[in-house]
Amino acid sequence: MTGTAPVTFTADDYRARMERAARQAAEAGLAGLLVAPGPDLVWLTGYAPTAVTERLTLLVLAAGRDPVLVVPTLEAPDAERAAGATALNLRDWTDGKDPYALTAGLLDAGGRFGISDNTWALHLLGLQSALPGTSYAALTDALPMLRAVKDAAELELLAAAGAAADAAFEEIRTVPFAGRRESDVAADLAALLRRFGHSQVDFTIVASGPNGANPHHEAGDRVIERGDMVVLDFGGLKDGYGSDTSRTVHVGEPTDEERRVHEIVREAQEAGFRAVRPGAACQDVDRAARAVIARAGYAEHFIHRTGHGIGVTTHEPPYMIEGEEQSLVPGMCFSVEPGIYLPGRFGVRIEDIVTVTEDGGRRLNNTAREMVIVD
Ligand code: ZN
Ligand code: ZN
Ligand code: ZN
Repeated sequence: MTGTAPVTFTADDYRARMERAARQAAEAGLAGLLVAPGPDLVWLTGYAPTAVTERLTLLVLAAGRDPVLVVPTLEAPDAERAAGATALNLRDWTDGKDPYALTAGLLDAGGRFGISDNTWALHLLGLQSALPGTSYAALTDALPMLRAVKDAAELELLAAAGAAADAAFEEIRTVPFAGRRESDVAADLAALLRRFGHSQVDFTIVASGPNGANPHHEAGDRVIERGDMVVLDFGGLKDGYGSDTSRTVHVGEPTDEERRVHEIVREAQEAGFRAVRPGAACQDVDRAARAVIARAGYAEHFIHRTGHGIGVTTHEPPYMIEGEEQSLVPGMCFSVEPGIYLPGRFGVRIEDIVTVTEDGGRRLNNTAREMVIVD
């Protein structure tokens, strides 16, 4: 680990983000944005309530107006301490009062609003009945690129999270695999991520042998055997920014077929990475990786998109998928993670986080992509 302190964001950073969001919302024809606790609220204000409850907390953003945070009175002191709070007007409400009526008074009746994806249905229904003329769009659908382009400080945090995940891999490849359960190795991975600075572990996939053919297999009771391929896919949040990397290891000597399939995925991952440059489309990254796998005869065994964005969450737009014509812009960060899945037998996935630079791409994961042999 490096000894540098995490970068923190100032009230000015949050003010600029809120202004940009409000401007983009207006450009998209929205009357404003409504943001409940979650990744968007953290990104816009630095505020994350200790518990998300049935009491309404909602950020109201509209172009040309000061941002307002509707907040339960008992949580107002916490909200006031958030880094972005000085850029906000707090409107608190006490138990027994109607927070939807309060919020409705801040909104244009009849307007269409972007609302954060994770807003509870309870709250959206409350708003709809307080202001029947309003309509809503999911924030991710309305402004998919709002958080996609990272600034220098965000990139530094994402690079540090990637380096921490890499450090976890360098340790896990030295532990015994054969004779232990997948869940034991997964617990090791989670502990390593925390040891290297993660405050939150989102997933620790350990998919051995035939389980590797299921991209969503997490980790179970299966005892890992000699001869198994093992897909490792792990990540979480370090200092508020995400990591997500996959490597596929083999327990003991692999067969020729296992080596060949692993090498095809490695070449596909390399081709996807090489397709990353400003102005290329998201789908070009998917096409480049998929072409390698198709040429080798495994097209029907690559059963997911090539990648997803990462930032204050570990899965977000932009998506590297056929049909996504969004252009790559320097500062975007996303995974490049092709795989081949052979039902009943084994799977291989190799994943790096990549950021778009002025003239190409830069990987934020840098452990060996060649097949690693473990014990
Ligand atoms: Zn094997
Ligand atoms: Zn992953
Ligand atoms: Zn991923």
